[in-house]
Amino acid sequence: SFESIMEFSEFKLNSDGLLPVIVQHYKTAEVLMLAYMNQEAFDTTVKTGKMTYFSRSRQSLWVKGETSGHFQYVKSLTIDCDKDTLLAKVEQVGAACHTGNPTCFFQPIVGNDYDETNPLQVFESVYSTIMDRKSNPKEGSYTNYLFDKGLDKILKKVGEEATELVIAAKNPNPEEIKYELSDFLYHAMVLMVERGVTWEDIVQELAER
Ligand code: AMP
Ligand code: ZN
Ligand code: ZN
Ligand code: ZN
Repeated sequence: SFESIMEFSEFKLNSDGLLPVIVQHYKTAEVLMLAYMNQEAFDTTVKTGKMTYFSRSRQSLWVKGETSGHFQYVKSLTIDCDKDTLLAKVEQVGAACHTGNPTCFFQPIVGNDYDETNPLQVFESVYSTIMDRKSNPKEGSYTNYLFDKGLDKILKKVGEEATELVIAAKNPNPEEIKYELSDFLYHAMVLMVERGVTWEDIVQELAER
């Protein structure tokens, strides 16, 4: 439980009587989502340490994660200069977005901040594309073919690609390893999406070892 040094009544609310909340990952500073609070949501958040909002679509109190399990644990709450926007730094369980994306902000509109030399960004991008195929199937997509065939087919491919990688690694031409490792990683990511494992889970596991 936290203590707030400011009352909700001191904040400047929007025309709906709500306070916009920008939600950021406390470690990576990734912007995860935007949501709104009323007084009850704010007080509940401070009291429980779990991000609680006012759902505009349901017109009711919403504990983020109550159905998905993707809770957000408060690390800090900061109000901006003119007290009309709250910044929440949180520990995020699972994906912040209900689509399964780690962040709600994954639809580029203007410009491109994508760094194609950053391995994690490239992995995240391929992973997002695979997730997108799963939710919006595309005609002729090999990824959709794998999802349609199901887990056993995906596992068979992962096994085959692992075997091909082992063979390639013995080949004097190092180019072969590159191709087979890429094939393997792609199929591993299809498996991750199928079983709901994220890159964040993997990175966290590795970092803890
Ligand atoms: P959750 O709070 O994660 O259990 O999700 C419950 C419901 O809240 C979902 O079915 C969505 O309708 C909505 N929801 C969850 N996360 C978000 C989000 N990041 N942005 C907008 N709506 C969300
Ligand atoms: Zn300012
Ligand atoms: Zn402001
Ligand atoms: Zn979202």
